Amino acid sequence: MKKTRSTYKRILLKLSGEALLGDGEYGIDSAVLKRYAKEIREVIDSGVEIGIVIGGGNIYRGVEKSSDGIDKVTGDYMGMLATMINGLALQSALENMGVFTRLLTPIKMEEIAEPFIRRRAVRHLEKRRVVIFGSGTGNPYFTTDTAAALRALEIKADVIIKGTRVDGVYNSDPEKNPNAVMYKEISYADVLKKDLKVMDLTAITLCKENNLPIIVLNMNKTGSMMKLLKGEKVGTIVTSGSKLPK
Ligand code: UDP
Repeated sequence: MKKTRSTYKRILLKLSGEALLGDGEYGIDSAVLKRYAKEIREVIDSGVEIGIVIGGGNIYRGVEKSSDGIDKVTGDYMGMLATMINGLALQSALENMGVFTRLLTPIKMEEIAEPFIRRRAVRHLEKRRVVIFGSGTGNPYFTTDTAAALRALEIKADVIIKGTRVDGVYNSDPEKNPNAVMYKEISYADVLKKDLKVMDLTAITLCKENNLPIIVLNMNKTGSMMKLLKGEKVGTIVTSGSKLPK
């Protein structure tokens, strides 16, 4: 095992469900899944502990007023089940690469995943297992971004890494505006003030109140996470301190 001297000892990676779509319209793109598993294996092999919160948007996303006759709370539970489908897929992909994993859920599903118990999650991490946190927070009205912030705080992660399909946080949507400018650093306050879509409000607030840094980077660029862990400046870092240039 090649150890990297990283500034981070334990990280929480947030992967959106949508990213698993790849070029497809529904479900899981196996090439994307394998690529993510490879990136995660490199992290654990380098000696950094990693927990993962995975979204469910590629399968089902709860909506405020659904047109399909499904009420909000039921839709949210369906979304949480979707995160478990993704979690099982990621677990399987990692195990195929020889990585030890545990899938944890705060909603009981004894046959397929362990119950989420904070101390147990930490123990798994210490034993160098990749811990996948499924079912979001286990509560409706939340998102997996908030679950990522919550689990990161609970396991005392040094940072949340939010894997996206763009390089970082921009002043406007880089997929729509070719002149969008990327920030290297930005404060929670500016993210909130400028309503930048880093994570949802509840998640940002939780990070801000507990001074937990967020790094937004491009998961579609091979090796981004490892570059970051080796000390290179990658993506955008959100902390309390960074001041935007006037
Ligand atoms: N969800 C929820 N509580 C949680 C996390 C998720 O109710 O703690 C539901 C919610 O309906 C959400 C869906 O699960 O829309 C899928 O999660 P999310 O939209 O965060 O996935 P992503 O955008 O990351 O793919």
